[in-house]
Amino acid sequence: MFEKILIANRGEIALRVQRACRELGIKTVAVHSEADADAKYVMLADESVCIGPPPSQGSYLNIPAIISAAEVTGAEAIHPGYGFLSENADFAERVENSGFVFIGPRAETIRLMGDKISAKSAMKAAGVPVVPGSEGQLPEDPKEIKKLAEQIGYPILIKAAAGGGGRGMRVVEREEDLFPSLDMTRGEARTAFGNDTVYLEKFLGQPRHIEIQVLSDEHGNAVFLGERDCSMQRRHQKIIEEAPAPGITEKMRNRIGESCVAACKRIKYRGAGTFEFLYENGEFYFIEMNTRVQVEHPVTELITGIDIVQEQILIAAGNKLSFRQKDVVLRGHAIECRINAEDPFTFVPSPGRITQYHAPGGPGVRIDSHIYHNYFVPPYYDSLIAKVLTHGATREQAMARMRIALSEMVVEGIKTNIPLHQQLLQDKGFIAGQTSIHYLQEKLASDKAKLS
Ligand code: ADP
Repeated sequence: MFEKILIANRGEIALRVQRACRELGIKTVAVHSEADADAKYVMLADESVCIGPPPSQGSYLNIPAIISAAEVTGAEAIHPGYGFLSENADFAERVENSGFVFIGPRAETIRLMGDKISAKSAMKAAGVPVVPGSEGQLPEDPKEIKKLAEQIGYPILIKAAAGGGGRGMRVVEREEDLFPSLDMTRGEARTAFGNDTVYLEKFLGQPRHIEIQVLSDEHGNAVFLGERDCSMQRRHQKIIEEAPAPGITEKMRNRIGESCVAACKRIKYRGAGTFEFLYENGEFYFIEMNTRVQVEHPVTELITGIDIVQEQILIAAGNKLSFRQKDVVLRGHAIECRINAEDPFTFVPSPGRITQYHAPGGPGVRIDSHIYHNYFVPPYYDSLIAKVLTHGATREQAMARMRIALSEMVVEGIKTNIPLHQQLLQDKGFIAGQTSIHYLQEKLASDKAKLS
Protein backbone atom coordinates (compact mmCIF):
# COMPACT_ATOMS: atom_id res chain seq x y z
CA MET A 1 0.00 0.00 0.00
CA PHE A 2 1.08 3.58 -0.56
CA GLU A 3 2.43 5.59 2.34
CA LYS A 4 1.88 9.01 0.84
CA ILE A 5 -0.42 10.34 -1.89
CA LEU A 6 -0.42 13.75 -3.52
CA ILE A 7 -3.88 15.13 -4.31
CA ALA A 8 -3.73 17.20 -7.49
CA ASN A 9 -7.02 19.02 -7.05
CA ARG A 10 -8.91 21.48 -4.90
CA GLY A 11 -12.29 22.04 -3.27
CA GLU A 12 -14.62 19.36 -2.03
CA ILE A 13 -12.96 16.56 -4.02
CA ALA A 14 -9.54 17.35 -2.52
CA LEU A 15 -11.10 16.90 0.91
CA ARG A 16 -12.98 13.77 -0.19
CA VAL A 17 -9.80 12.10 -1.44
CA GLN A 18 -7.93 13.18 1.67
CA ARG A 19 -10.54 11.53 3.89
CA ALA A 20 -10.25 8.28 1.92
CA CYS A 21 -6.47 8.35 2.35
CA ARG A 22 -6.68 9.02 6.06
CA GLU A 23 -9.03 6.11 6.55
CA LEU A 24 -6.56 3.87 4.72
CA GLY A 25 -3.70 5.19 6.89
CA ILE A 26 -2.05 7.00 3.98
CA LYS A 27 -0.37 10.40 4.43
CA THR A 28 -1.52 13.19 2.14
CA VAL A 29 0.08 16.07 0.30
CA ALA A 30 -2.20 18.95 -0.67
CA VAL A 31 -1.12 21.13 -3.56
CA HIS A 32 -2.79 24.50 -3.83
CA SER A 33 -2.78 27.80 -5.65
CA GLU A 34 -2.13 31.09 -3.85
CA ALA A 35 -5.92 31.59 -3.73
CA ASP A 36 -6.45 28.33 -1.80
CA ALA A 37 -3.68 28.72 0.77
CA ASP A 38 -6.10 28.77 3.72
CA ALA A 39 -8.45 26.05 2.48
CA LYS A 40 -9.57 23.50 5.03
CA TYR A 41 -8.10 20.49 3.25
CA VAL A 42 -4.76 22.29 2.94
CA MET A 43 -4.66 22.75 6.72
CA LEU A 44 -5.76 19.16 7.32
CA ALA A 45 -3.23 17.58 4.94
CA ASP A 46 -0.01 16.17 6.34
CA GLU A 47 1.95 18.41 3.99
CA SER A 48 1.10 21.13 1.53
CA VAL A 49 2.85 22.77 -1.39
CA CYS A 50 1.90 25.99 -3.13
CA ILE A 51 2.13 25.30 -6.86
CA GLY A 52 1.34 28.65 -8.39
CA PRO A 53 -0.86 31.69 -8.82
CA PRO A 54 -4.67 31.64 -8.64
CA PRO A 55 -5.50 31.01 -12.31
CA SER A 56 -5.61 27.22 -12.87
CA GLN A 57 -3.29 27.43 -15.85
CA GLY A 58 -0.40 28.31 -13.55
CA SER A 59 -1.37 26.00 -10.68
CA TYR A 60 -3.87 23.13 -10.92
CA LEU A 61 -2.99 22.63 -14.59
CA ASN A 62 0.73 23.18 -14.08
CA ILE A 63 2.13 19.70 -14.68
CA PRO A 64 5.82 20.40 -13.89
CA ALA A 65 4.88 22.13 -10.61
CA ILE A 66 2.70 19.19 -9.53
CA ILE A 67 5.36 16.63 -10.38
CA SER A 68 8.03 18.63 -8.50
CA ALA A 69 5.69 18.80 -5.51
CA ALA A 70 5.45 15.00 -5.56
CA GLU A 71 9.22 14.75 -5.80
CA VAL A 72 10.02 17.09 -2.93
CA THR A 73 7.45 15.53 -0.62
CA GLY A 74 8.26 11.92 -1.52
CA ALA A 75 4.69 11.04 -2.51
CA GLU A 76 4.32 7.70 -4.29
CA ALA A 77 1.07 8.25 -6.10
CA ILE A 78 -1.02 11.12 -7.47
CA HIS A 79 -4.81 11.30 -7.28
CA PRO A 80 -6.16 13.71 -9.91
CA GLY A 81 -9.74 14.07 -8.62
CA TYR A 82 -12.13 15.25 -11.36
CA GLY A 83 -11.78 18.13 -13.81
CA PHE A 84 -8.33 19.79 -14.14
CA LEU A 85 -5.78 17.13 -15.21
CA SER A 86 -7.89 14.08 -14.37
CA GLU A 87 -8.55 13.12 -17.97
CA ASN A 88 -5.31 14.42 -19.42
CA ALA A 89 -3.43 11.45 -20.88
CA ASP A 90 -0.18 13.43 -21.15
CA PHE A 91 -0.34 14.16 -17.44
CA ALA A 92 -0.96 10.51 -16.58
CA GLU A 93 1.97 9.56 -18.75
CA ARG A 94 4.31 12.12 -17.21
CA VAL A 95 3.29 11.07 -13.73
CA GLU A 96 4.15 7.45 -14.48
CA ASN A 97 7.33 8.33 -16.40
CA SER A 98 8.49 10.33 -13.37
CA GLY A 99 8.15 7.21 -11.24
CA PHE A 100 4.81 7.87 -9.54
CA VAL A 101 1.59 5.92 -9.73
CA PHE A 102 -1.28 7.70 -11.44
CA ILE A 103 -4.50 6.84 -9.61
CA GLY A 104 -6.59 6.19 -12.67
CA PRO A 105 -6.42 4.26 -15.91
CA ARG A 106 -3.35 3.91 -18.10
CA ALA A 107 -2.59 6.92 -20.32
CA GLU A 108 -3.50 4.96 -23.44
CA THR A 109 -6.97 4.19 -22.05
CA ILE A 110 -7.53 7.87 -21.24
CA ARG A 111 -6.46 8.71 -24.77
CA LEU A 112 -8.77 6.10 -26.28
CA MET A 113 -11.75 7.33 -24.28
CA GLY A 114 -10.86 11.02 -24.60
CA ASP A 115 -11.46 10.89 -28.30
CA LYS A 116 -15.18 10.40 -28.68
CA ILE A 117 -14.86 8.71 -32.05
CA SER A 118 -12.37 6.08 -30.88
CA ALA A 119 -14.30 5.64 -27.63
CA LYS A 120 -17.49 5.01 -29.50
CA SER A 121 -15.98 2.45 -31.83
CA ALA A 122 -14.26 0.67 -28.94
CA MET A 123 -17.58 0.47 -27.13
CA LYS A 124 -19.43 -0.70 -30.17
CA ALA A 125 -16.87 -3.44 -30.68
CA ALA A 126 -17.34 -4.52 -27.06
CA GLY A 127 -21.10 -4.85 -27.49
CA VAL A 128 -22.12 -1.63 -25.71
CA PRO A 129 -25.09 0.03 -27.47
CA VAL A 130 -24.15 3.42 -29.00
CA VAL A 131 -26.06 6.36 -30.54
CA PRO A 132 -26.55 5.78 -34.29
CA GLY A 133 -24.36 8.11 -36.32
CA SER A 134 -21.36 8.44 -38.59
CA GLU A 135 -18.97 5.61 -37.94
CA GLY A 136 -15.76 7.49 -37.30
CA GLN A 137 -14.67 10.67 -39.07
CA LEU A 138 -16.79 12.38 -41.67
CA PRO A 139 -16.07 11.73 -45.34
CA GLU A 140 -14.44 14.54 -47.36
CA ASP A 141 -17.08 14.70 -50.05
CA PRO A 142 -19.94 17.07 -49.11
CA LYS A 143 -22.39 14.92 -51.05
CA GLU A 144 -21.51 11.94 -48.92
CA ILE A 145 -21.85 13.97 -45.73
CA LYS A 146 -25.27 15.05 -46.87
CA LYS A 147 -26.23 11.47 -47.61
CA LEU A 148 -24.96 10.32 -44.24
CA ALA A 149 -26.98 13.00 -42.43
CA GLU A 150 -30.06 11.94 -44.35
CA GLN A 151 -29.54 8.31 -43.41
CA ILE A 152 -29.16 9.21 -39.72
CA GLY A 153 -32.25 11.40 -40.04
CA TYR A 154 -32.78 15.00 -38.87
CA PRO A 155 -32.46 16.45 -36.33
CA ILE A 156 -28.81 15.46 -36.04
CA LEU A 157 -26.09 16.46 -33.64
CA ILE A 158 -22.62 17.53 -34.73
CA LYS A 159 -20.07 16.62 -32.10
CA ALA A 160 -16.40 17.43 -31.75
CA ALA A 161 -14.29 14.30 -31.27
CA ALA A 162 -12.27 16.11 -28.61
CA GLY A 163 -15.30 17.84 -27.04
CA GLY A 164 -16.02 17.89 -23.35
CA GLY A 165 -17.90 19.67 -20.60
CA GLY A 166 -20.93 20.04 -22.82
CA ARG A 167 -18.99 22.09 -25.37
CA GLY A 168 -18.38 21.30 -29.00
CA MET A 169 -21.88 20.23 -29.97
CA ARG A 170 -24.48 21.64 -32.32
CA VAL A 171 -27.97 20.48 -33.29
CA VAL A 172 -28.95 20.68 -36.95
CA GLU A 173 -32.66 20.64 -37.69
CA ARG A 174 -32.62 21.00 -41.46
CA GLU A 175 -30.35 20.05 -44.31
CA GLU A 176 -29.74 23.66 -45.35
CA ASP A 177 -28.10 24.32 -41.98
CA LEU A 178 -25.79 21.31 -42.19
CA PHE A 179 -22.70 22.87 -43.77
CA PRO A 180 -22.79 26.23 -41.97
CA SER A 181 -23.18 24.33 -38.68
CA LEU A 182 -20.33 21.98 -39.54
CA ASP A 183 -18.07 24.96 -40.21
CA MET A 184 -19.03 26.64 -36.97
CA THR A 185 -18.57 23.53 -34.85
CA ARG A 186 -15.21 22.79 -36.48
CA GLY A 187 -14.06 26.36 -35.86
CA GLU A 188 -15.11 26.25 -32.22
CA ALA A 189 -13.53 22.85 -31.70
CA ARG A 190 -10.27 24.06 -33.21
CA THR A 191 -10.17 27.01 -30.81
CA ALA A 192 -11.37 25.16 -27.73
CA PHE A 193 -9.71 21.76 -28.12
CA GLY A 194 -7.05 22.24 -30.80
CA ASN A 195 -8.70 19.50 -32.85
CA ASP A 196 -11.42 20.15 -35.38
CA THR A 197 -12.49 16.57 -36.04
CA VAL A 198 -16.26 16.28 -35.80
CA TYR A 199 -18.79 13.50 -36.32
CA LEU A 200 -22.53 13.14 -36.61
CA GLU A 201 -24.98 11.53 -34.27
CA LYS A 202 -28.71 11.08 -34.19
CA PHE A 203 -30.13 13.80 -31.95
CA LEU A 204 -32.33 12.15 -29.37
CA GLY A 205 -35.34 14.31 -28.56
CA GLN A 206 -36.28 13.52 -24.98
CA PRO A 207 -33.57 11.28 -23.54
CA ARG A 208 -32.66 10.76 -19.92
CA HIS A 209 -29.04 10.71 -18.80
CA ILE A 210 -28.27 7.43 -17.09
CA GLU A 211 -24.74 6.31 -16.27
CA ILE A 212 -23.13 3.14 -15.00
CA GLN A 213 -20.36 3.19 -12.38
CA VAL A 214 -17.67 0.56 -12.79
CA LEU A 215 -14.58 -0.58 -10.91
CA SER A 216 -11.98 -2.66 -12.67
CA ASP A 217 -8.66 -4.00 -11.38
CA GLU A 218 -5.46 -5.02 -13.14
CA HIS A 219 -6.18 -8.69 -12.60
CA GLY A 220 -9.08 -8.95 -14.99
CA ASN A 221 -11.87 -8.37 -12.46
CA ALA A 222 -14.57 -5.79 -13.09
CA VAL A 223 -17.90 -4.96 -11.47
CA PHE A 224 -20.64 -2.41 -12.01
CA LEU A 225 -22.18 -0.55 -9.09
CA GLY A 226 -25.61 0.10 -10.56
CA GLU A 227 -26.65 3.28 -12.32
CA ARG A 228 -27.25 6.96 -11.61
CA ASP A 229 -29.84 9.21 -13.17
CA CYS A 230 -28.33 12.63 -13.92
CA SER A 231 -31.03 14.06 -16.17
CA MET A 232 -31.58 17.24 -14.15
CA GLN A 233 -29.15 19.46 -16.05
CA ARG A 234 -28.73 23.02 -17.16
CA ARG A 235 -26.48 23.67 -20.14
CA HIS A 236 -25.25 20.09 -19.89
CA GLN A 237 -24.19 20.64 -16.28
CA LYS A 238 -25.74 18.18 -13.87
CA ILE A 239 -27.35 19.70 -10.81
CA ILE A 240 -29.24 16.82 -9.19
CA GLU A 241 -28.28 13.16 -9.42
CA GLU A 242 -29.87 10.08 -7.97
CA ALA A 243 -29.44 6.34 -7.69
CA PRO A 244 -31.04 4.05 -8.65
CA ALA A 245 -32.61 5.62 -11.75
CA PRO A 246 -36.41 5.68 -11.42
CA GLY A 247 -38.12 3.06 -13.56
CA ILE A 248 -35.02 1.04 -14.43
CA THR A 249 -35.70 -2.61 -13.67
CA GLU A 250 -33.15 -5.04 -12.35
CA LYS A 251 -33.17 -6.83 -15.68
CA MET A 252 -32.37 -3.65 -17.64
CA ARG A 253 -29.71 -2.67 -15.12
CA ASN A 254 -28.01 -6.03 -15.33
CA ARG A 255 -28.08 -6.10 -19.11
CA ILE A 256 -26.46 -2.69 -19.52
CA GLY A 257 -24.16 -3.16 -16.51
CA GLU A 258 -22.87 -6.45 -17.86
CA SER A 259 -22.08 -4.87 -21.22
CA CYS A 260 -20.00 -2.20 -19.42
CA VAL A 261 -18.15 -4.85 -17.44
CA ALA A 262 -17.42 -6.72 -20.67
CA ALA A 263 -16.08 -3.48 -22.18
CA CYS A 264 -13.83 -2.90 -19.15
CA LYS A 265 -12.35 -6.34 -19.52
CA ARG A 266 -11.85 -5.89 -23.22
CA ILE A 267 -10.00 -2.57 -22.94
CA LYS A 268 -8.23 -3.75 -19.77
CA TYR A 269 -9.64 -0.80 -17.88
CA ARG A 270 -7.96 0.11 -14.58
CA GLY A 271 -9.71 1.98 -11.77
CA ALA A 272 -13.09 3.64 -11.37
CA GLY A 273 -14.96 4.77 -14.44
CA THR A 274 -18.36 5.83 -15.67
CA PHE A 275 -20.15 4.83 -18.84
CA GLU A 276 -22.56 7.61 -19.74
CA PHE A 277 -25.70 6.76 -21.68
CA LEU A 278 -28.67 8.55 -23.07
CA TYR A 279 -31.79 6.52 -22.40
CA GLU A 280 -34.90 6.82 -24.54
CA ASN A 281 -37.84 4.50 -25.19
CA GLY A 282 -36.32 1.68 -23.20
CA GLU A 283 -32.96 1.78 -25.00
CA PHE A 284 -29.52 2.82 -23.76
CA TYR A 285 -27.14 4.68 -26.08
CA PHE A 286 -23.51 5.13 -25.02
CA ILE A 287 -22.26 8.73 -25.32
CA GLU A 288 -18.96 8.76 -23.47
CA MET A 289 -16.83 7.23 -20.78
CA ASN A 290 -15.38 9.26 -17.94
CA THR A 291 -12.09 7.76 -16.85
CA ARG A 292 -12.06 9.30 -13.38
CA VAL A 293 -14.12 9.68 -10.24
CA GLN A 294 -17.25 11.76 -10.82
CA VAL A 295 -18.79 14.55 -8.81
CA GLU A 296 -21.89 12.41 -8.23
CA HIS A 297 -20.06 9.24 -7.10
CA PRO A 298 -21.42 9.51 -3.52
CA VAL A 299 -24.99 8.60 -4.50
CA THR A 300 -23.63 5.22 -5.56
CA GLU A 301 -21.58 4.95 -2.37
CA LEU A 302 -24.72 5.55 -0.32
CA ILE A 303 -26.73 2.79 -1.94
CA THR A 304 -23.90 0.24 -2.24
CA GLY A 305 -21.86 0.96 0.88
CA ILE A 306 -18.74 0.83 -1.30
CA ASP A 307 -16.17 3.62 -0.97
CA ILE A 308 -15.32 4.35 -4.60
CA VAL A 309 -12.34 6.59 -3.83
CA GLN A 310 -10.77 4.00 -1.54
CA GLU A 311 -11.30 1.38 -4.22
CA GLN A 312 -9.54 3.63 -6.74
CA ILE A 313 -6.54 3.81 -4.42
CA LEU A 314 -6.54 0.07 -3.70
CA ILE A 315 -6.73 -0.74 -7.42
CA ALA A 316 -3.90 1.72 -8.19
CA ALA A 317 -1.79 -0.02 -5.55
CA GLY A 318 -2.23 -3.25 -7.50
CA ASN A 319 -4.82 -4.94 -5.29
CA LYS A 320 -7.49 -7.26 -6.54
CA LEU A 321 -11.08 -6.15 -6.07
CA SER A 322 -12.10 -7.54 -2.69
CA PHE A 323 -15.68 -8.31 -3.77
CA ARG A 324 -17.56 -9.72 -6.71
CA GLN A 325 -20.62 -8.67 -8.65
CA LYS A 326 -22.91 -10.80 -6.50
CA ASP A 327 -21.69 -8.92 -3.41
CA VAL A 328 -22.89 -5.60 -4.84
CA VAL A 329 -26.30 -5.02 -3.31
CA LEU A 330 -28.29 -1.83 -3.87
CA ARG A 331 -30.05 -0.56 -0.76
CA GLY A 332 -32.60 2.25 -0.79
CA HIS A 333 -32.34 5.46 -2.74
CA ALA A 334 -29.91 8.38 -2.72
CA ILE A 335 -30.12 11.93 -4.09
CA GLU A 336 -27.42 14.57 -4.49
CA CYS A 337 -28.00 18.32 -4.85
CA ARG A 338 -25.00 20.27 -6.11
CA ILE A 339 -24.84 23.52 -4.20
CA ASN A 340 -23.20 26.20 -6.33
CA ALA A 341 -22.11 29.70 -5.42
CA GLU A 342 -24.36 31.40 -7.96
CA ASP A 343 -27.61 33.25 -8.31
CA PRO A 344 -30.34 30.59 -8.16
CA PHE A 345 -32.25 31.97 -11.13
CA THR A 346 -29.81 33.98 -13.28
CA PHE A 347 -26.95 31.53 -12.60
CA VAL A 348 -24.42 34.36 -12.40
CA PRO A 349 -21.49 33.16 -10.24
CA SER A 350 -21.40 34.59 -6.74
CA PRO A 351 -17.95 34.21 -5.22
CA GLY A 352 -17.05 35.96 -1.97
CA ARG A 353 -16.92 35.54 1.78
CA ILE A 354 -19.31 33.19 3.56
CA THR A 355 -20.48 35.14 6.60
CA GLN A 356 -22.69 32.41 8.07
CA TYR A 357 -22.60 28.68 7.53
CA HIS A 358 -24.67 25.94 9.08
CA ALA A 359 -24.54 22.47 7.60
CA PRO A 360 -27.62 20.25 7.78
CA GLY A 361 -27.55 16.87 9.50
CA GLY A 362 -29.71 14.06 10.75
CA PRO A 363 -30.54 10.54 9.55
CA GLY A 364 -29.40 9.72 6.05
CA VAL A 365 -27.64 13.04 5.38
CA ARG A 366 -24.13 13.33 3.95
CA ILE A 367 -22.40 16.62 3.18
CA ASP A 368 -19.29 16.69 1.02
CA SER A 369 -17.95 20.20 1.25
CA HIS A 370 -14.78 22.14 1.90
CA ILE A 371 -16.49 25.36 2.98
CA TYR A 372 -16.69 26.75 6.52
CA HIS A 373 -17.81 29.85 8.37
CA ASN A 374 -15.84 32.85 7.06
CA TYR A 375 -14.44 30.89 4.09
CA PHE A 376 -13.79 32.98 0.99
CA VAL A 377 -15.09 31.38 -2.22
CA PRO A 378 -12.45 32.34 -4.79
CA PRO A 379 -13.67 33.60 -8.16
CA TYR A 380 -11.21 31.56 -10.22
CA TYR A 381 -12.73 28.11 -10.16
CA ASP A 382 -15.85 26.03 -10.51
CA SER A 383 -18.75 27.33 -8.42
CA LEU A 384 -19.45 24.02 -6.61
CA ILE A 385 -19.25 24.65 -2.87
CA ALA A 386 -21.05 21.65 -1.41
CA LYS A 387 -22.80 18.44 -2.26
CA VAL A 388 -25.81 17.68 -0.09
CA LEU A 389 -26.77 14.02 -0.21
CA THR A 390 -29.61 12.14 1.36
CA HIS A 391 -30.25 8.43 1.56
CA GLY A 392 -33.54 6.78 2.43
CA ALA A 393 -35.23 3.40 2.22
CA THR A 394 -37.30 4.73 -0.68
CA ARG A 395 -37.05 7.59 -3.15
CA GLU A 396 -39.83 9.36 -1.22
CA GLN A 397 -37.84 9.16 1.99
CA ALA A 398 -34.67 10.38 0.30
CA MET A 399 -36.64 13.36 -1.11
CA ALA A 400 -38.24 14.12 2.25
CA ARG A 401 -34.83 14.08 3.90
CA MET A 402 -33.46 16.35 1.17
CA ARG A 403 -36.24 18.90 1.75
CA ILE A 404 -35.37 18.97 5.44
CA ALA A 405 -31.64 19.17 4.80
CA LEU A 406 -32.03 22.07 2.38
CA SER A 407 -34.28 23.91 4.81
CA GLU A 408 -31.66 23.56 7.55
CA MET A 409 -28.74 24.66 5.44
CA VAL A 410 -27.60 28.25 5.89
CA VAL A 411 -25.04 29.88 3.61
CA GLU A 412 -24.88 33.66 3.89
CA GLY A 413 -22.70 36.34 2.35
CA ILE A 414 -22.87 34.81 -1.11
CA LYS A 415 -25.75 33.62 -3.25
CA THR A 416 -26.33 29.90 -3.73
CA ASN A 417 -28.68 27.78 -5.78
CA ILE A 418 -30.32 26.29 -2.67
CA PRO A 419 -33.65 28.05 -3.51
CA LEU A 420 -33.64 26.39 -6.93
CA HIS A 421 -33.10 22.97 -5.36
CA GLN A 422 -35.92 23.66 -2.93
CA GLN A 423 -38.23 24.44 -5.83
CA LEU A 424 -37.19 21.30 -7.66
CA LEU A 425 -37.81 19.15 -4.62
CA GLN A 426 -41.42 20.43 -4.71
CA ASP A 427 -41.74 20.13 -8.47
CA LYS A 428 -44.33 17.65 -9.75
CA GLY A 429 -42.14 16.51 -12.63
CA PHE A 430 -39.12 15.84 -10.46
CA ILE A 431 -41.23 14.14 -7.81
CA ALA A 432 -42.75 11.86 -10.44
CA GLY A 433 -39.26 11.04 -11.76
CA GLN A 434 -38.08 9.92 -15.21
CA THR A 435 -37.76 13.48 -16.57
CA SER A 436 -35.64 14.08 -19.67
CA ILE A 437 -32.40 16.05 -19.87
CA HIS A 438 -34.35 19.04 -21.21
CA TYR A 439 -36.79 19.17 -18.34
CA LEU A 440 -34.99 21.72 -16.18
CA GLN A 441 -34.32 24.19 -18.97
CA GLU A 442 -37.88 23.94 -20.18
CA LYS A 443 -39.16 24.47 -16.67
CA LEU A 444 -36.89 27.48 -16.13
CA ALA A 445 -38.06 28.98 -19.43
CA SER A 446 -41.73 28.47 -18.62
CA ASP A 447 -41.34 29.85 -15.07
CA LYS A 448 -39.67 32.92 -16.52
CA ALA A 449 -42.48 33.36 -19.07
CA LYS A 450 -45.06 33.15 -16.27
CA LEU A 451 -43.27 35.89 -14.32
CA SER A 452 -43.11 38.35 -17.21
P1 ADP B 1 -19.41 16.15 -22.86
O1 ADP B 1 -18.14 15.38 -22.98
O2 ADP B 1 -19.28 17.53 -23.38
O3 ADP B 1 -20.05 16.05 -21.53
P2 ADP B 1 -21.37 14.25 -23.93
O4 ADP B 1 -21.17 13.43 -25.13
O5 ADP B 1 -21.33 13.56 -22.61
O6 ADP B 1 -20.36 15.48 -23.96
O7 ADP B 1 -22.74 15.00 -24.04
C1 ADP B 1 -23.12 15.98 -23.13
C2 ADP B 1 -24.61 16.15 -23.13
O8 ADP B 1 -25.10 16.50 -24.43
C3 ADP B 1 -25.37 14.91 -22.75
O9 ADP B 1 -25.47 14.75 -21.35
C4 ADP B 1 -26.71 15.22 -23.38
O10 ADP B 1 -27.36 16.18 -22.56
C5 ADP B 1 -26.36 15.90 -24.67
N1 ADP B 1 -26.22 14.95 -25.80
C6 ADP B 1 -25.10 14.28 -26.16
N2 ADP B 1 -25.34 13.49 -27.23
C7 ADP B 1 -26.64 13.63 -27.56
C8 ADP B 1 -27.51 13.08 -28.58
N3 ADP B 1 -27.07 12.21 -29.49
N4 ADP B 1 -28.80 13.49 -28.59
C9 ADP B 1 -29.26 14.37 -27.68
N5 ADP B 1 -28.51 14.94 -26.72
C10 ADP B 1 -27.21 14.59 -26.64
